[in-house]
Amino acid sequence: MTDRQRYDHYIGGAWTPPASGQYFESTNPATRQVLYSAARGDRTDVARAVDAATTAFEDPRWRDLSQTRRGRLIRNLGDLVADNADELARMETLDNGKLLREMRAQMRTLPEYLYYYAGLADKIQGDVIPASQREILNYTTREPLGVVGAITPWNSPLTLTTSKLAPALCAGNTIVIKPSEHTSATVLRFVELVAEAGFPPGVVNVVTGFGPEAGQALVDSPGIAKISFTGSTGTGARIASSTAGRFIGATLELGGKSPNIVFEDADVHNAAMGVVAGIFAAAGQTCIAGSRVFAHRAVYDELLERVTKRAETIVIGDPLDDSTELGPLAFADQRDKVAGYVELGRSEGATVHTGGRPTDAGLGGYFFEPTVLTQVDNTMRVVREEIFGPVAAVMPFDSEDEVLAMANDTDYGLAAGVWTKSLSRAHRMASRLEAGTVWVNTYRAMSPMSPRQGFKNSGVGVEHGMETIHEYTRLKSVWINTSEEPVADPFVMRS
Ligand code: NAD
Repeated sequence: MTDRQRYDHYIGGAWTPPASGQYFESTNPATRQVLYSAARGDRTDVARAVDAATTAFEDPRWRDLSQTRRGRLIRNLGDLVADNADELARMETLDNGKLLREMRAQMRTLPEYLYYYAGLADKIQGDVIPASQREILNYTTREPLGVVGAITPWNSPLTLTTSKLAPALCAGNTIVIKPSEHTSATVLRFVELVAEAGFPPGVVNVVTGFGPEAGQALVDSPGIAKISFTGSTGTGARIASSTAGRFIGATLELGGKSPNIVFEDADVHNAAMGVVAGIFAAAGQTCIAGSRVFAHRAVYDELLERVTKRAETIVIGDPLDDSTELGPLAFADQRDKVAGYVELGRSEGATVHTGGRPTDAGLGGYFFEPTVLTQVDNTMRVVREEIFGPVAAVMPFDSEDEVLAMANDTDYGLAAGVWTKSLSRAHRMASRLEAGTVWVNTYRAMSPMSPRQGFKNSGVGVEHGMETIHEYTRLKSVWINTSEEPVADPFVMRS
């Protein structure tokens, strides 16, 4: 890094200017002020980073480190993130516009992810298999894959990076990270902490830049053993087709259009709070946004009124201010996309029950009002496509079977919420909803310990928890003949 306003790539433990000499700017979405410029990565930069990660993977300083010591390094990193949480939170708020108090909470939780995988590092082990041949010892081991390419979006940059980096390093891989072109700053501060934690150079590398340039170059790189991607379903599909022919793994965490279902026996106040949190937190810019709200006809009016009342009193403003409840969308195109969807909804016959307009909140930024659409149904694009903004489509239903059919009638399957006091209904819904995460009487709950997977077009592979270790290791089966008897001639029939 030459100075705080201009970031280079971080390759092999050193700040490395882009081969092309080009940089791009990143702005604060609340004010449109330019924050910094970052290196515009291309194939040459990516090749350098993958080479550095390959060298580090084979370097005895990393390769021969005991699993316990690997865990200790990850723990050190967790401690450093904890010490610097407030600085990282502020950087992320300036970069993507999410509320500082939410980012602070996220950054203070981030060390828990690192501690979890620090503890897991020396618990990665194989099995002894009773392979049914006497005097044969058959056992399995789990080996690291090599260089992992991690590509992340802008909505929770460091959290989503850590979800990949912590298990990848825990399993002994090295990594090249390509952050979103909209939010490169925190990961570039984070790699300074990686170095301070004691990781050898080249174990963690960052190449910044645009998706079709740096991102695609990383996906195409012959040196990578795996891609771990979080982002839109469209980009995920392109990545899957690029990696398929090379038979390398791809963990894909993609988009969603999640249902949040309120039954007639729910506590309507709690459900309304869950609906508001599900779609208006982070200005709707979360993959798990509960953007399709289904309310039983008996509570539809009450729920709509409660949600509308809260939506209309949400404080829009400077995300650095602790009294603000809704910050801006992350960049101009995203604001325009959300506005375009609301217009599309109108033209499809939806009613804009509240909100529906962009605003600059007196700050010049890319804000959008909390919006509720009614008179909508599953045939409309605003109900079928991910908007990734503060826009809820609210629909009534009459029966459990009807709402299950409507909720499951989607290309996505990331998450679902259910609000009910009936235990048996809660279990029935959890089992029949086609979504990788189901919340009952809560929404947006998450933990490093709890694995999550997107169903259908929402993804491939598991993140978080112990299961994600399988995404970052390959299994080897070893057969050892322990007998001292001569090995039989294979062509002589034994009597
Ligand atoms: P995006 O797909 O546009 O970009 C994500 C990343 O991919 C960025 O770093 C981008 O530069 C890169 N990229 C773009 N084109 C590429 C290409 N051809 N090759 C390689 N890399 C490329 O997504 P976004 O707009 O940054 O993020 C929003 C999306 O992310 C939403 O769809 C959201 O639902 C999804 N998301 C999913 C999860 C999850 O856990 N399932 C979490 C957060 C966000």
